[in-house]
Parts: sequence; structure tokens; C-alpha cells
Amino acid sequence: MIEILFLLLPLAFYSGWKAAKKNNLKQCVESNKLADDYVKGVNYLLSEKPDKALEVFINHPDVDEYTAETYLLLGNMFRNRGEVDRALRLHQNLMARSSLSKDQKAAVMFALGEDYLAAGMLDRAEGVFQELLNTTPRAVNACVPLRQIYEQTHEWEKAIDATICLQQKKLPIAYQKLIAHYYSEMADVEMEQGNLHKVEEFIAKAYKSYKKSARVMVLQADLQERKKNYKQAFKLYLKALTNDAHLLAPLFKKITTVATKIGKIKEFEMLLFELYGHDNSALAYLLELVRLDSSTHIATEFLLEDLKNKRLDIYSISKSIDILQTNKKCSEDEKLSLIKFALDHYLQGKAAFQCLNCGYQMQDYLWRCPACYQWDKVSHA
Ligand SMILES: [Zn+2]
Repeated sequence: MIEILFLLLPLAFYSGWKAAKKNNLKQCVESNKLADDYVKGVNYLLSEKPDKALEVFINHPDVDEYTAETYLLLGNMFRNRGEVDRALRLHQNLMARSSLSKDQKAAVMFALGEDYLAAGMLDRAEGVFQELLNTTPRAVNACVPLRQIYEQTHEWEKAIDATICLQQKKLPIAYQKLIAHYYSEMADVEMEQGNLHKVEEFIAKAYKSYKKSARVMVLQADLQERKKNYKQAFKLYLKALTNDAHLLAPLFKKITTVATKIGKIKEFEMLLFELYGHDNSALAYLLELVRLDSSTHIATEFLLEDLKNKRLDIYSISKSIDILQTNKKCSEDEKLSLIKFALDHYLQGKAAFQCLNCGYQMQDYLWRCPACYQWDKVSHA
């Protein structure tokens, strides 16, 4: 609440100064009343009576350029504290004032749109931001929340327009990527309905917006798979995966299915082996491939060594146990000691404790979390 005091104190001074400046006694009395109103409002805020404070501010008859600024900030602060109703009341009241300049009206309108957005009233928020764009074409900052609204309502064409409106000249890469995603979303919808011509059309647009998009490569592969061009699909999936190794999780099943159809499991296994060279998490998939297709052997050759020497993730260790179960060369004791090695490696460097409130991890038990300052919230990780 202290921040409100800092916010409003200058106003009290301003009102006092205004009063002193005026010679006319009547005006002086009125201005002193304004200062009194502010002090009263601040007092209510400080004593945690925001509704009473709101009444004082809303019933305050005179709003000029200085007080308007403060009202605006006060409303935004209510919104940031999650008190959207109060923010709305204040901003709506301000909007109805005739004494605002054009720029102030635009700023209040933007704040009002943000209030509606925070309240989840997307239709109203959209209406306010659109009106703001229509009445004040240079208020392109309204395109940011508009884009967020259209993302939520899955109105991708409109989301594209809102992205373009942010930048009239050459779009930055981040926006090009966004637009590629929006076209890809539309392609996904058409793919589900089997409109492959439409899919091609949207893929072409997405590709034109951002040529390096891994998502577009995946869509191209999906399209070829739908057309039963498995060789082409396989090639495109591998290209997407080489481009972005993080896609291994969502693409693994698709690639395995296509590779099985055209007898290319070995090739896929080689790529996974290569990925494993850079990222240990690829091992889980490599081992899953061994489990699905016992004719592949690369993984089993180095598995025993790696279980002993590398720090593998828990999924890879779990998959390794599946493979070890079928290994006849190792004794049961050897298998157990290998798993123990792997688990000890995994636990090394892993945080022992974690805050239940904020998730902060730590090695030693602490009574008070150093991140969120809550007491008695630390537990075993
Ligand atoms: Zn915490």
C-alpha cells in the first residue's frame, strides 16, 4: 500500500500548490477541498479500504491533465493487484470525463481494454482495442493485446493482421516466426478435415513468412505421409529433426512408423545415435527403437559401458532396464550393479530439497525458502 502513498503524495502537493497560486478566495477554498479529497482517498487506501477510496476519487469533480495521469496509474495498479473490478470502475469513470486530451483518452482506452482482457471479457477487450485503432491509427500498441486475443480465440487470420499492424516496414524475425505458426495452425485444421489443397496453400504461406521454420518442415512431412509418399515424408521428418533436435519427442512415433514402412529403421537409428553424441536424452529413444525392432544393435553395444560411465536421464535408465532384462550375457548381479551405477550417477548433482511453494531447489535443508521467503515449505526434491 506504501506505493499508493508515493503515487498520490505529489498530487496532494500539486493541489496545495494550485490552491496557493490562485488569488481568488473561492477557488482557493475549492482547491483546498481537492487536496483534502486526495488526503482522504489516500488515507482510505492506506487503511485497506479501497472501495471507500474509490468513491472519493470517482466523485472527485475536477480532473485535469495531472490528476488524469494519476487516476490512470491508480487503475492500472488495481488491475495489477488482481482487483479488476476496481480498475474498470476507475477507468470507465475517467473515460466519461470530457476534460481529457486526445492522447489521454487513447491511454485510458488502452487501460480499459487491458482491464477487460484481465477480466477475461475478450469480446469487450477486442471492441475497445479495435475502436482505439480506428480512432487513433498511430496507437499501434493496441495490436499487441489484439494479437493475444486472437491467439486465444484461434482467429488466425486476424492474428496475422494484428502482427503485421505492429510493424509497417520489414517484419522482424520474431514476427515472421509468429505468422508462420498462425498459417501452420490453419494448415493443421485443414489437415484434420482432409482438405489437402488448402493445407498446401497454408504451408506455402507459412514457408514464405519464415523459411527455416521446423514446424513447416514437419507439416510438409505430414502432408507427404497423408499422400502416402512415405520416402519423401521420411526425408522431410529427418530434415526437421536435424534442424531442431528438440522435435525428437513429438516426431519419434511418426518417424518410426514411416521408417518401418520403407525399411529405413537402420537409417533412423544412425541419426539417433548421432543425436545421442550431443544429447544424452536421445538414448531413451534409441533404446525404444531397439525394443521395437530387435534387429538393431548399435545401442546395445555401448549401453553397458554408458550405464557405468555416463550420467543418463531417468527415462534412459528406465529404457536400459527393459533392454537389460533381455540380455543373456550379463548375470543378474551384474545387471543390478549396472543399474545402481546409473542411478548413483543420476542422483549426483541433483538437488536434494525443493520448496513446495515456488519450486526452488537446494542442496541443504533450510527452514525458510531463499527464493519466496516462506517458512516450513522445504521438502525432499
Ligand atoms: Zn520458495
